Amino acid sequence: MSHSFRQALQDTFHLEQFRPLQHEVIEHFFAGGSALVIMPTGSGKSLTYQLPAVSLPGTTLVVSPLKALMKDQVDKLRALGVRASLINSDVSRTEREKRQEKLKRGDLQILYVTPERFQKQEFLDAVDSAKISRLVLDEAHCISQWGHDFRPEYGKVGLLRERLKNPPTLALTATATAEVKNDIREKLRFDANAPTFSLPIARPNLAIEVEDIVSLEEKAETAIERLHGHDGVGSAIIYFALITTLHKFSDVLRKKKIRHVVYHGDLPEKMKRSSQEDFLAGREPIILATPAFGLGVDKPDVRAVIHAEVPGSIEAYFQEIGRAGRDGLPARCVLLYDQDDVTTQMEFIEWANPDGEYIRKVMSLIAGHSARFRQEGADFLREQMSYFNKRDYRVETALNLLRSWGILEETADRAEITGELTNALWNEELRTTRKRHQQEKLLKLIRWINSRACRQQGIYQYFSEVETTPCGICDNCRAAQPPRVNR
Ligand code: ADP
Ligand code: MG
Repeated sequence: MSHSFRQALQDTFHLEQFRPLQHEVIEHFFAGGSALVIMPTGSGKSLTYQLPAVSLPGTTLVVSPLKALMKDQVDKLRALGVRASLINSDVSRTEREKRQEKLKRGDLQILYVTPERFQKQEFLDAVDSAKISRLVLDEAHCISQWGHDFRPEYGKVGLLRERLKNPPTLALTATATAEVKNDIREKLRFDANAPTFSLPIARPNLAIEVEDIVSLEEKAETAIERLHGHDGVGSAIIYFALITTLHKFSDVLRKKKIRHVVYHGDLPEKMKRSSQEDFLAGREPIILATPAFGLGVDKPDVRAVIHAEVPGSIEAYFQEIGRAGRDGLPARCVLLYDQDDVTTQMEFIEWANPDGEYIRKVMSLIAGHSARFRQEGADFLREQMSYFNKRDYRVETALNLLRSWGILEETADRAEITGELTNALWNEELRTTRKRHQQEKLLKLIRWINSRACRQQGIYQYFSEVETTPCGICDNCRAAQPPRVNR
């Protein structure tokens, strides 16, 4: 059997040999086992389902929250002669129906979809009469509400798996804490003997440093200093928590005639895409971004990741700096730490956990003004909820929670509240537990920032990885070494 996998690797994918763990996962998945797979970005997770998919009868259904990267994947597979397709909100209705027909006829080896398809009856109908041999959840950490990148559309993933009659399932992610791993298994209803395959997460080429900073001006100066001479050598990402800070920073760079592009959630899709493409192609060396940028981005030569504001957890931080130095060459990660920025993250946590009364008010507004809500979206709700603070995103949180519970159904022109906010879904205890949990994660990050121990070791301990030796290149390791003496 292993001989034929190698054959498929060479014949279909034109690759010479397997990378670490790929063969083990492929063997297991092909034979009909489910598994959780944790491998760093760029290590080749896609092959672990693509290869079985071309060797098995039926369709492999791949769920991914990354609309932007789907087309690329499908184009690559088609070029290799694989019958692959995708369905997401960018696909026109006629085209979508055509693809669903293909799925029903068994003409597709691989179909990529976004998780919001789970809400669409026509998709579920198509899936019912298709032969789905394997299910794959890419970026599976997005399933967990304990993860730093929770996508509520994933709420019904367990039901979907059941509806497909529990096909062998692969859940793939680059980073997951112990509780996120447990949550993924639980949501997918994996049984206890489904194994976890994982590669060590160590990134020894990242030199991490934390710098205490007191003002935006100082941040900009330090960032520019760190980026000096960067142009043409490689690329840099500068991360922000707030769009307003990002804009101010961008102004400073512009005044100093430092070329850069920006990326955040308030930009139109077209702008986001062009920023991302210019950065990926190396036409623009610097991108200023919120955490909305980066998931699934695999650019080998990012030489620096600078955090201009403190992120919300060690896992968010590790995921973001993980975009540096993919090529294995040295890369620099600088966290510009202003204590005052911690309050921003504390506000985020507050807004991520609105109380029941707030959610009920949102529900009744939607139920009473369905058409208007569909036209104006969250803005309408925000206006009605006497919304003062520009950064308050409780409305979005409430909507996301309603979607994840499956009691908000949206069509093109209407929105419907299809259930009640029961005590089992949301209650004061659940709310405080969730909030405390997020606060603890923030606190762990602050402790790590203030620690004098090796930065890398601190991160691996957080993910309960095996002990490693000190990295030798972070600020703390360098401070612990005696200064070099010139003779
Ligand atoms: P991940 O999903 O883990 O981030 P991908 O599946 O996107 O990574 O793969 C990253 C790159 O590695 C792709 O360009 C892919 O073609 C390449 N790759 C994967 N497996 C192999 C292999 N066995 N040999 C050579 N290149 C590979
Ligand atoms: Mg991937």
